[in-house]
Amino acid sequence: MRRDTLGLEKVESESRRCGIDAKSYNLLGPLWLYAQSFTKRASRSYVAGAELANAVQVCQRLAQQGTATTVGYWNADSDTYRFVADAYLNALTVLASEKLNTYLSIKAPALGLTRGLVTEVAAQAQQADLGLHFDSLEPEAADETFTLIAEAARECKQIGCTLPGRWQRSLRDIDLAVELGLRVRVVKGQWADPLQPEMDLRTGFLNVIDCLAGRARHVAVATHDPSLAREALQRLRAAGTSCELELLFGLPQKAVLRAVKDLAVPVRVYVPYGEAWLPYRLSQVRKNPRILWWVLRDALLAG
Ligand SMILES: Cc1cc2nc3c(=O)[nH]c(=O)nc-3n(C[C@H](O)[C@H](O)[C@H](O)COP(=O)(O)OP(=O)(O)OC[C@H]3O[C@@H](n4cnc5c(N)ncnc54)[C@H](O)[C@@H]3O)c2cc1C
Repeated sequence: MRRDTLGLEKVESESRRCGIDAKSYNLLGPLWLYAQSFTKRASRSYVAGAELANAVQVCQRLAQQGTATTVGYWNADSDTYRFVADAYLNALTVLASEKLNTYLSIKAPALGLTRGLVTEVAAQAQQADLGLHFDSLEPEAADETFTLIAEAARECKQIGCTLPGRWQRSLRDIDLAVELGLRVRVVKGQWADPLQPEMDLRTGFLNVIDCLAGRARHVAVATHDPSLAREALQRLRAAGTSCELELLFGLPQKAVLRAVKDLAVPVRVYVPYGEAWLPYRLSQVRKNPRILWWVLRDALLAG
């Protein structure tokens, strides 16, 4: 797999990848390169490895414990759209041959939001009899992503979408998800909604769950927040909606698994490979000082 090399002209985009926003980047100044390598090292805890084989190994291990998975190639900024499409196509071929309870997670912006590439990947997913799930990225890409999701649903029967609870638009996107019979993953969301940046993450999450309950084909509750996961799964169960808990590889799982143990819901783990990202924002340190501890711990554990 091609690896990204750091050039100074790419420092800003790399800083975003590491969870450092433009303001913090300016403040970091000369400490930038050190901070960059530190956070890059820390982010390694959140991918199975650089290669698909690393992700497959993790999936096989989880399958032995009765845990389902989803696999996602996390691209480098330097990857071309064609390169990313080929990585997705290869992952579908390999995952189909492994006979795992898994599906492929993809990022439409990494394919340049290109119709031809998305339908090519969707057609291959259909041929491989595997699900294809669209991750949610920056809000600016959401309109085009949902147009592509509708196109993909014409090619492949098992399509999924991600709905961030903090976005106003998610309550409208639910209608399309229900109409197309999509599998839905509900997340708090890493990107704020420009229309309501202060939206309470838990309230937004449960609003989306309530709108899906009794209507959606299947809902994955994707959070490590123990009380939120429990409440969401209980509401879906009460409405008779098929549901599961979905967790992210590398994030702590014990507390959330303990909180939902008696509900006996299926559990799935998202296993990324490729370019590592931190699943938290360093710019949030003031609001959540525990992030400093997380980045230190992750960098030390990354080996
Ligand atoms: C399977 C899955 C798929 C996702 N897909 C998307 C997507 O497509 N688009 C998107 O925008 N977002 C996605 N997310 C990310 C999600 O939006 C949140 O940013 C992320 O999951 C953190 O939110 P949380 O719900 O787990 O709650 P949080 O409140 O952030 O965390 C829950 C608990 O875990 C603890 N915790 C969290 N992170 C750490 C850490 N690194 N180390 C130690 N403790 C920690 C917290 O302290 C808290 O107690 C996904 C998340 C998951 C689990």
